Amino acid sequence: TNTPTALIMIFGATGDLAHRKLFPSLYRLYKKGRLTDRFAVLGVARRSLTLEEFQESVRKSIVEFTGEQDGLDEFASHFYYQSHDVTDSSSYIQLRELANKLDEHYGLEGNRLFYLAMAPEFFGTIGDHLKLDGLTDTAGYKRLVIEKPFGHDFESAQELNNRLRQAFSEEEIYRIDHYLGKAMVQNIQVIRFANALFEPLWNNRYISNIQVTSSETLGVEERGRYYEKSGALRDMVQNHMLQMVALLAMEPPIKLNTEEIRSEKVRALRSLRPMSQDEVNQYFVRGQYDEGTINGESVPGYRTEPMVDPESNTETYVAGKLVIDNFRWAGVPFYIRTGKRLGSKSTKIVVQFKDIPMNLYYNTDEKLTPNLLVIHIQPEEGVTLHLNAKKSGSGMKTTPVRLSTASKSIDRMNTPEAYEKLLYDSMRGDATNFTHWDEVALSWKFVDAISAVWENTKETTFPNYAAGSDGPQVADQLLEKDGFEWWPVE
Ligand code: NAD
Repeated sequence: TNTPTALIMIFGATGDLAHRKLFPSLYRLYKKGRLTDRFAVLGVARRSLTLEEFQESVRKSIVEFTGEQDGLDEFASHFYYQSHDVTDSSSYIQLRELANKLDEHYGLEGNRLFYLAMAPEFFGTIGDHLKLDGLTDTAGYKRLVIEKPFGHDFESAQELNNRLRQAFSEEEIYRIDHYLGKAMVQNIQVIRFANALFEPLWNNRYISNIQVTSSETLGVEERGRYYEKSGALRDMVQNHMLQMVALLAMEPPIKLNTEEIRSEKVRALRSLRPMSQDEVNQYFVRGQYDEGTINGESVPGYRTEPMVDPESNTETYVAGKLVIDNFRWAGVPFYIRTGKRLGSKSTKIVVQFKDIPMNLYYNTDEKLTPNLLVIHIQPEEGVTLHLNAKKSGSGMKTTPVRLSTASKSIDRMNTPEAYEKLLYDSMRGDATNFTHWDEVALSWKFVDAISAVWENTKETTFPNYAAGSDGPQVADQLLEKDGFEWWPVE
């Protein structure tokens, strides 16, 4: 059905994610009629709050992050709160009673969504208690929506997964990778599989290389404690970057359903060549930001950020070359790069096509630029195709031209926030844009081989890029070795 009914239990309901993303997304769904009046949200967090205080915090978040307040009182009246330390086993019984009451009051048919918007060290404990104390014992569906990071490496991820699987089946676990909720990430497969112009060219005969960039201008902010143990490789590559690579590299699914799409993504991840120690050193580089200037403002270096070791070896930037060992992609490098405190905020994919066999226009003053397909993911959304055309005027000179649908998504109401789509999908039971355990496992194994090398070799060049720059020089050299260069992020 299109208007799902459920009790949405948010663990961590006073946190940043709940206020910035989850409440506003639920409100937008409500306004679009995608949530009927048959829903309730039960917020759980440590702080003691009255019902009025909690509902007031919900209203404030909606006004602040959506700029709207239409029907807000009615919406907020669906929100309930329980102050509860998730490590305290006695309070789950109370939670169950409140859940049952809300279920009855709103006619929720026993459908339950448990959303874990809390630090990952609590995921296992919460999962155990939900089952032990009967919260998962319900007439309708029960689903667990779980935030990143899913583990710290393969081993810890597997341990967490085994534990959660005591209470939820794989089909009931919705692992969030919010990149998969982004409109343009979902558009990758449409561009590939709905266009005669691209589908036949999507292989090593016509594509020379693919570049995936995700750059941030923000630094580590208040997350130093977490980030010191994570770094860009675990925080960005294991999940978001590899997910985009999988969508670009996968074979066409035989059907557009969850199982088929995910199994093609799994196959793509299985084709990633595991990195030996030598390959890690050759194919992956890391960076750490120094002080610098971003948008006219001077910002500190990573090592002087709060909760960061003054001699930290943690990378805030990663660039790498991925090798996909299958017939379609043999010989085509997939380059990825991601980092904090770079000159601009941008996520995009550049597909560079091979040069045509013979350049008739080579004697003109401009060199032919290769054809590029750029998929802009954020903040711009859309696609740009770079072609060559005749330069106006006499003679046969060429000039690059662009066909572009890209635009800044100014009207936020019209481009649904990733979290809005993902919440809606999880309520409808569509797990396509969530990561299956097999994807998580393969991604960790790939990334673990790189961490293993990096953790044993102190990077003596850190810090090696200025805040506000394009990243470390080693990232440029990585492509130069192959005769390529990064296409600008602009
Ligand atoms: P936060 O620190 O702002 O909020 C944590 C919440 O957990 C608070 O509501 C707090 O009261 C509650 N909490 C902590 N200990 C508790 C306990 N023992 N018992 C009960 N409640 C307790 O964190 P956040 O930024 O909202 O992030 C939550 C999760 O979402 C994390 O896994 C994070 O990695 C992930 N995440 C956050 C963002 C974001 O934009 N904030 C983005 C992606 C992923």
